Amino acid sequence: MRELQYAPPGRRLGDDPAQTPVFETREVSRDYVMPGGVVHAVRDVSIRVGLGQLVALRGRSGSGKTTLLSMIGALDRPTRGSVSVGGMIVSEMPESELVGFRRRHVGFIFQAFGLMPILSAAENVEVPLRLLGVEPRERDQRVRELLEMVGLGARARHRPYELSGGEQQRVAIARALANRPPLLLADEPTGQLDTQTGRSIMKLLQHVMLTEGMTVMVATHDPMLLDLADRVIELRDGRVVDDRRQLADTNGDSA
Ligand code: ADP
Ligand code: MG
Repeated sequence: MRELQYAPPGRRLGDDPAQTPVFETREVSRDYVMPGGVVHAVRDVSIRVGLGQLVALRGRSGSGKTTLLSMIGALDRPTRGSVSVGGMIVSEMPESELVGFRRRHVGFIFQAFGLMPILSAAENVEVPLRLLGVEPRERDQRVRELLEMVGLGARARHRPYELSGGEQQRVAIARALANRPPLLLADEPTGQLDTQTGRSIMKLLQHVMLTEGMTVMVATHDPMLLDLADRVIELRDGRVVDDRRQLADTNGDSA
């Protein structure tokens, strides 16, 4: 597999055009051909996002958020246009390379958490490390570190049903971070949580972005959460109708 070219870790480069963006979409569209006609889920979206950004993707239900995130994470391919991650055009990558690409370069977080019910919190976090063949001792240490980071050091042996919704989402975040992917994609991660818990999850994503130097893109239609983002992109009927930088609220206790 070709080497990806990311900017050096630990620096917030924002949108510096001289740097290879963490991801970029060019005139990306996705159509679904349905019996009743063609659905234009995403239309001509061009966005470029640099290292160390928390980007919110807003828009009401059906506006194309999930479809766009899926194409950025190479779970789906555009009908037209291209997607690149770390300087590599993933929209043209053969299927055989995509599995490895996703494991190493993208972390996913979903609304429904997606944890394996028969595994403990620690075992869930360990799955991606096993898939990459990380040796047991290093795995254990990384799992401990990750659970500490998300505030669940004392819950390692709990199964998902023994955890609250917010705790389950924290486990899912730890799992998504296990392989240190440069890009984290979260699809309405707070959708099933109450406002307070949702905000603490967004705070955690912001913390992770700042401390791990990653780029996070979060689809959300919760306006309460948007002030934490560095940039807010709004979709309507599959198109970008607004794209603004903002001074993110990085104050720890301003809920
Ligand atoms: P959002 O995540 O913002 O709610 P989606 O990306 O899920 O929006 O959907 C965008 C549009 O594409 C919607 O009109 C939806 O019905 C349609 N759509 C999404 N996925 C599919 C699919 N697999 N087949 C057909 N239409 C789809
Ligand atoms: Mg969606």
